[in-house]
Amino acid sequence: MTDNTKYIFVTGGVTSSLGKGIIAASLAKLLQAQGYRTTIQKLDPYINVDPGTLNPYEHGECYVTDDGAETDLDLGHYERFLNVPTSQANNVTTGRIYQSVIEKERRGEFLGKTVQVIPHITDEIKNRVQILGNSGDYDIVITEIGGTVGDIESLPYIEAVRQLKWDLGEHNAIVIHLTLVPFLSAAGELKTKPTQHSVKTLMESGVMADVLVCRTEHELPEDLRTKLALFCNVREEAVIQSIDASTIYDVPNLMLEQGLDKVVLKKLNLKSATPDLTQWNKFLSRHKNPKSEITIGLIGKYVELQDSYKSILEAFIHAGAANEVKVNVESIHSEYLNADNAKLKLSHLDGVLVAPGFGERGIEGKIDAIKYVREQNIPFLGICLGMQMAVIEFARNVLGLVDANSTEMVPNTKNPVIDLMESQKSVTNKGGTMRLGAWECKVKVDSKASKVYGATTILERHRHRYEFNNDFKKEIEEAGMVATGLNPETGLVEIIEIPNHPWFVGVQYHPEYRSTVANPHPLFVAFVRAALKYKNAKNRVSMA
Ligand code: GLN
Repeated sequence: MTDNTKYIFVTGGVTSSLGKGIIAASLAKLLQAQGYRTTIQKLDPYINVDPGTLNPYEHGECYVTDDGAETDLDLGHYERFLNVPTSQANNVTTGRIYQSVIEKERRGEFLGKTVQVIPHITDEIKNRVQILGNSGDYDIVITEIGGTVGDIESLPYIEAVRQLKWDLGEHNAIVIHLTLVPFLSAAGELKTKPTQHSVKTLMESGVMADVLVCRTEHELPEDLRTKLALFCNVREEAVIQSIDASTIYDVPNLMLEQGLDKVVLKKLNLKSATPDLTQWNKFLSRHKNPKSEITIGLIGKYVELQDSYKSILEAFIHAGAANEVKVNVESIHSEYLNADNAKLKLSHLDGVLVAPGFGERGIEGKIDAIKYVREQNIPFLGICLGMQMAVIEFARNVLGLVDANSTEMVPNTKNPVIDLMESQKSVTNKGGTMRLGAWECKVKVDSKASKVYGATTILERHRHRYEFNNDFKKEIEEAGMVATGLNPETGLVEIIEIPNHPWFVGVQYHPEYRSTVANPHPLFVAFVRAALKYKNAKNRVSMA
């Protein structure tokens, strides 16, 4: 516990994609493991109010919090590392900052003053940074500034950091600057110049870095650290190397070895102790020493992009470790799947996950894949759009409603087994208007889901506009697909299962958002277990 909240800002230089989010999450983990109540916040310099309207090609996965905020995928890392839920306050964009300043201006709150970047925009940024600190829930707030120093759009954020450092005083706010130390193979050398320039760029805005974290592919030799310290105004102990790791989950230990937590705590005048990483390391050892291996097909339309299904991939890592199984995820593009090649592309898999998504592209491939896994008894997990496609497939091929569809794809379909939610019918704006955030779900006793969760009331996060059409529920259930999870107030179907299939579950919500290292999601854990069982049975048959 601290008397007042301390602030750590994480900025980035030289290039984007250096892994600021992972460094922030790893440091937070080390601080949390020493008893400091720590949270992380991301400030994004783009003008969209949130990433909810962004295409995954632009921005990777949109992560959803319990309170229904559509946020940057780094918040997923924060939750997975810390096992503490984040909220809207943990992600702020330039769009949101300007929106609230402009709303205040329209309400006349600036009393006739000219509204300017400094102080009005910077004040709004400073308030947003301090909302978490002032809540009294945290000893340390880590604020990750998106983008790269020197970007025009980052300037107000860097200025707000300068002011906050000044306002809060020494030992209350520090800056960690993350840079790249490239290796030039022609010269056979690691180069410090980009880091020097990037620290200078930061200084032009009046901000001194307190700690340098240097991303590198090779060990930084002592003399190079000395050089960086000398040129960049930091102590040698504050030059931290961040070497490429085989898994992001190694980074807290790598930062511990480098003493990042110690340097930071010293600068903040806080006591340091040995972090208790027992549980974390237990997970790591299970993750790195699997006893068996399975292959899961991930069917989606953004599969060529690693970041599009980030939380799903991480949830498999957690669930794999829980089962001591290595989960190989094979990405399969739904657009290139059809009834003719389904066997070729899917028959070797031990389980299939059909991913969330929007719009028509690639959906017929998803439906063909689901038909194949349903008929072949391959374990299946459908998430959001994946669940909706499972309902359509069942209606078409089991009930014989050959034109069954979702009104998202064919608005005037005769058999809309998936339809726009009632509450969505009056919605015209696209941003922030889906059914979002955590909703309660009642799970039927004796269902697969109730066994998986060990509970009959669950809370899961949503992000959708369409739903299972209850007009078809009776018919579908009589044919063998059962709705085993319902929203207690609206009766919306949240879970479907096929009881006479070994493992066929579709969920309207996103279990992947709630999977953490400390709490692997039960549905993923059970799905991985089912896939392993399926693989073992398949092997027994082929050996017999
Ligand atoms: N497009 C579907 C809907 O809006 C599914 C959304 C999703 O998969 N997140 O209902």
